Amino acid sequence: MTANSTVVATGTYLAVIGMEVHAQLQTASKMFCSCSADYWEAAPNSHVCPVCLAMPGVLPVINEHAVEQTVRSGLALHCQIAPFSVFARKNYSYPDLPKGYQISQYELPLCHDGFLVIDGDDGQPRRIGIRRAHLEEDTGKTIHADGVSLVDLNRAGVPLMEIVTESDLRSADEAYRYLVKLRTILRYLGVNSGDMEKGAMRCEVNLSLRTAEQAARGEYGVKVEVKNLNSFKAVRDSIAYEVARQTALLDSGGTVQQVTMGWDEDRRRTIMQRSKESSEDYRYFPEPDLPPLELSSQWIDGVRASLPELPDAKVERFTGEYAISRLDAEALTAERSVAEWFEDAVHAYSGPPREVANWVTGELFALLNAQEGDITALDLSPDDLAALLTLVDTGVINRNTGKRVLAEMISTGQPPEVIIDAQGLAQVSDEAGLAQIVDSVLAANPDAVTKYHDGKTSLLGWFMGQVMKETRGKANPDVVRGLLAERLDHR
Ligand SMILES: [Zn+2]
Repeated sequence: MTANSTVVATGTYLAVIGMEVHAQLQTASKMFCSCSADYWEAAPNSHVCPVCLAMPGVLPVINEHAVEQTVRSGLALHCQIAPFSVFARKNYSYPDLPKGYQISQYELPLCHDGFLVIDGDDGQPRRIGIRRAHLEEDTGKTIHADGVSLVDLNRAGVPLMEIVTESDLRSADEAYRYLVKLRTILRYLGVNSGDMEKGAMRCEVNLSLRTAEQAARGEYGVKVEVKNLNSFKAVRDSIAYEVARQTALLDSGGTVQQVTMGWDEDRRRTIMQRSKESSEDYRYFPEPDLPPLELSSQWIDGVRASLPELPDAKVERFTGEYAISRLDAEALTAERSVAEWFEDAVHAYSGPPREVANWVTGELFALLNAQEGDITALDLSPDDLAALLTLVDTGVINRNTGKRVLAEMISTGQPPEVIIDAQGLAQVSDEAGLAQIVDSVLAANPDAVTKYHDGKTSLLGWFMGQVMKETRGKANPDVVRGLLAERLDHR
């Protein structure tokens, strides 16, 4: 995450960055009609009706679930929820929205004046202001191919939440961390899938540079927008690129133009799209076909009461309740499903929670990376992991064998006892049997024994390894260590 910070820290100019995120809401139907909002991989124009096709005389109806999802998000982002908000028409003449306008919110949004705390570049918490979060409808998709343009209106009218920050971000890395945290929260709330490849979250950046003197006077540089950023990496790279581009421009005595840019992923640079439109170009006015949205305080309180425990609170509780490190707690809470799986395993296990955390963040995450899976999709229950750890604790198998058994449990779905029996993996703690092996290892390596007695005591580990090899890793290491020490140190 620090790859671009050298580009940003020019020392000459300070970056002032704001973000807009469009997040599709996970609702069954569209924003103003009953068409299914789950259009992914559907045949083009199969999720359409007279309302989202903008036939004459049709009237929109507000999707209550979308309102609730937006309020949930606003509350999680510490926003004020407006008891009275208004939908507005935003004039928009592109074929992907056949009405010729988009229903959005303008002067009176549903949520406003919140914040999200991220780790700043100096490691200290930084509060990023949320100016507003409002509700609108998505547009369709235009596809240009072979000299013709085709339009698919399945996406037209899908509920979309727009979350706008204050210009509080200062670097590409901060913008990246803001997005990661926002995505985590929206996924915890179940309001957005976070699936950027399917376009469920789209980002826009606005950025300007100013000198320290300008900052002291409260002045800002000229703002440039970068639109249609479809991955967090594209956000980070485009910010780093713009900071470098504008720095070079200002250093050479040039001036920054107020424009809208796009990001060219292949050429790894921003490209000019158009000179910036102002809000007047959209000629917003209150939507005459919809009443103002009025929310009672009881209804808002009900939504507040339904919020799940959010990532920051979980991290605090995990570090306190389970005595695990902050780093582990953050890794375990990045996905709500993983956090809940971990807690189930902790409850099923009689040993210390820290032990479960070690196995999940160590062995399980390593196995998951190899399989690119989600912990809850594995054929491994929290009870299975607890059973395995108990077998290690009680000395039935040693720790290294436990790691082997875990991998086997995941690939076969069998409980640990079955795997241990079938493969004869139970730990050998029988002293007499192990003593014979220890004696034969020592007898076969007289030179090493002499070197050990001459002071090279680090050879103890090598002798341990020889005994482990002879027992195919099953020897109880404590017993072997005791036997070796007895023979080598008490001649
Ligand atoms: Zn429809």
